Amino acid sequence: MSRVYNFSAGPSMLPEEVLKKAQEEMLEYGTSGMSVMEMSHRSKDFDDIIKSAEKLVRELMNVPDNYKVMFLQGGGSTQFAMVPMNLGIKCKAADYLITGQWAKKAAAEAEKYVKVNKVASSADKTFSYIPKPDAGAYSSKDDVDYCYICYNNTIYGTRFTELPKTEATLVADISSCAMSEVIDVSKFGLLFAGAQKNLGPAGVVLVIAREDLLGDPQPGTPTMLTYKTHADAESLYNTPPTYGIYIFKLVLEWIKSKGGIAELQKINEAKAKLLYDYLDSSKLFKGTVAKEDRSLMNVPFVTGSDELDAKFVKEAKEAGLVNLKGHRTVGGMRASIYNAMPVEGVEALIEFMKKFEQENA
Ligand SMILES: *Cc1c(COP(=O)(O)O)cnc(C)c1O
Repeated sequence: MSRVYNFSAGPSMLPEEVLKKAQEEMLEYGTSGMSVMEMSHRSKDFDDIIKSAEKLVRELMNVPDNYKVMFLQGGGSTQFAMVPMNLGIKCKAADYLITGQWAKKAAAEAEKYVKVNKVASSADKTFSYIPKPDAGAYSSKDDVDYCYICYNNTIYGTRFTELPKTEATLVADISSCAMSEVIDVSKFGLLFAGAQKNLGPAGVVLVIAREDLLGDPQPGTPTMLTYKTHADAESLYNTPPTYGIYIFKLVLEWIKSKGGIAELQKINEAKAKLLYDYLDSSKLFKGTVAKEDRSLMNVPFVTGSDELDAKFVKEAKEAGLVNLKGHRTVGGMRASIYNAMPVEGVEALIEFMKKFEQENA
């Protein structure tokens, strides 16, 4: 067996311990005589799985009691509609910060359901920084139902290091940074994350929402797109993505075994620092993002030559460092170094970059 270091932005690496545990339990989960995949979502065994997943989310993220934890489907992208349909009730308006493709898509979807105020955008510099508007730039909390941000911009490699100066209910897409750093849930009305970046396999979406926001949605909202449906049924209104939730539970146990999110954050900061320090010292490679806004999870970089970029991606792959090609809208390279990427993987990447730099100077 030869596993590579996989720098994919998503679906992405999972901890090897998690995959091994899933392998051990593949044919027979506990004493059930069957795989989790074959189990009724109403069975005692599955109920234990989903309950302990919820308990671990609450424990690891320190989720206050007045928040619901839901395991949904439809990817992060379905949340782009569910948020305005369910939260855009009183004012039918919301503030959006446009910090990349995912925020742009979320705003475009929201425009179907609410009036969208684009408070600020970093499109002028290819989303290479996080705009930091003054408090006065935001709508009053009486005029909007919420203010929306994409906390970590997977494609461009930026992240918020301080929260927007809004008084409105904050909503954040944390798809690519969930559980990679400590986030104070109580500062948000709603958080969501597609699992395939940092939490598990594709097919599960984690939603954490303050209970008082989960009333009746806009008229015409389908039952399946109503948060209240899933909150009331504890994510068992219909068949949830059972196997994905099971793997997510194993990832949560792994995070706990590592000492929790604060411990992983320290490791993630150290990993990112290794890579950024090298980029700052390199004469060939350079980072593309404003230093103060650099993501801990997604690190884009370029050589300045399309040919050299392509050569780098190809040779890295031959060396077992895969999926380093940048997003199709940005070019260059991107190394996604989520929780499951060990420090050894980052070190191997830097060694390879040094060698490549020498050979191509
Ligand atoms: C990947 C991603 C999405 C889209 O997720 P899907 O599950 O593919 O719909 C949304 N937001 C962010 C920040 C992402 O990284």
